[in-house]
Amino acid sequence: MRVTVVGGGVAGAASAIALSRVGAQVTVHEAYEDPGGTVGSYLSLSVNGLRALDALGCLDAVRRAGFPVDRQRMWSGRDRPLGDVPRGRRSGDPLRSVTLMRADLVRVLREEAARAGARILLGSRGCGDSPADVVVGADGIWSATRRALDPSAPEPRYAGLYSISGATDGPVRLPGERPQGFNMVFARRGAFIYLPAPDGTVWWSAQVAAADPPPDLAAVGLAELAGLFRTEKTPLAVLRASSAVTASTLLHVLPPVTRRHDDRTVLVGDAAHPVGAGQGASMAIEDAVALARQLAEAETVPAALAAFDRLRHDRTGKLAKTAAANRDAKTAGPLAARLREIMMPLFFDRFYEKATGWLYDHDPGRLDGETLVADDRQ
Ligand SMILES: Cc1cc2nc3c(=O)[nH]c(=O)nc-3n(C[C@H](O)[C@H](O)[C@H](O)COP(=O)(O)OP(=O)(O)OC[C@H]3O[C@@H](n4cnc5c(N)ncnc54)[C@H](O)[C@@H]3O)c2cc1C
Repeated sequence: MRVTVVGGGVAGAASAIALSRVGAQVTVHEAYEDPGGTVGSYLSLSVNGLRALDALGCLDAVRRAGFPVDRQRMWSGRDRPLGDVPRGRRSGDPLRSVTLMRADLVRVLREEAARAGARILLGSRGCGDSPADVVVGADGIWSATRRALDPSAPEPRYAGLYSISGATDGPVRLPGERPQGFNMVFARRGAFIYLPAPDGTVWWSAQVAAADPPPDLAAVGLAELAGLFRTEKTPLAVLRASSAVTASTLLHVLPPVTRRHDDRTVLVGDAAHPVGAGQGASMAIEDAVALARQLAEAETVPAALAAFDRLRHDRTGKLAKTAAANRDAKTAGPLAARLREIMMPLFFDRFYEKATGWLYDHDPGRLDGETLVADDRQ
């Protein structure tokens, strides 16, 4: 079976590995020469994403490119602890969430895809008119494949938040006793996330709530951020210990996509469901494993694509609702913030696992021994 993958980001590179593993001849078209998207930003993989990476055979390589993060701590703008939960896992799970630069994740996945036999064409825009048996649209939130499948498909719209990331120049003394781990501060103007990295620097990102996007996002620098977070001691200390912004991006949401496949083309990753909630990459990797398994198991390509979509739609739809609630929490006004400071410490830790366990329990299945059957698949 010949497969064209449009897009060589997380979803595209992971799909190339999975599909090569089940015996497809895969060609990936990636528009940019280097890992496209917000290159200087980092992301976290939760245990469901890590288990999907394990099914692809590249969990260890990804772990080596990042660092484990054990806990997730939530703080009010006044440094009051609001919650302290396991990061991206159930408390009893021996796996630890991994944080790494997005560009490093894409590099590791592309290397693995090439080793598995996929052809990766950089600087090449793919399209649906390829002669392949299957076209995988892994071309991100602005997907042209989605538009080709359905010219009336929804378009992304600005989410009322923009994200600016960076790292401190070195170790920073944070106010109070701040242990390692993923920390999120609910600040007056949005959320401020920071994680101490093993090299002593602190990786951070500011998710700023703004009804309208700034006229020139690239011009939003450290001085402006320091102004926006001037009333919150910890974000301010982190920003003052940094000398550059490494990535800036407007966050977008996409209304539900109703046409996600036809008999030959299928959307994966952000092209189908830009979920947010720190789960976009994990979901994209889960998609890759599920798609390869369905193509290996089903009798025909149309049946496989329909089965893949049925399998994935409920899960990503449920997650999209969680993501919307998370976004609302970051854009809440001062009254909601005060209520949060009172209520969250009372219930967050106790109910967190109950609310999120379904996400981490997902079993992606294995690709070992799954191969495309010979008849109509060559
Ligand atoms: C600020 C920020 C923080 C995030 N943090 C997290 C996190 O902590 N955890 C997490 O799991 N997720 C996180 N995400 C989401 C995650 O980055 C995405 O969900 C994930 O990268 C989706 O991968 P993708 O391959 O579907 O899309 P993309 O990463 O957008 O990749 C699409 C690729 O397709 C290429 N392309 C586009 N059009 C074409 C074309 N016509 N032809 C060829 N190539 C094309 C692009 O160049 C790009 O390389 C975050 C996102 C942002 C913006």
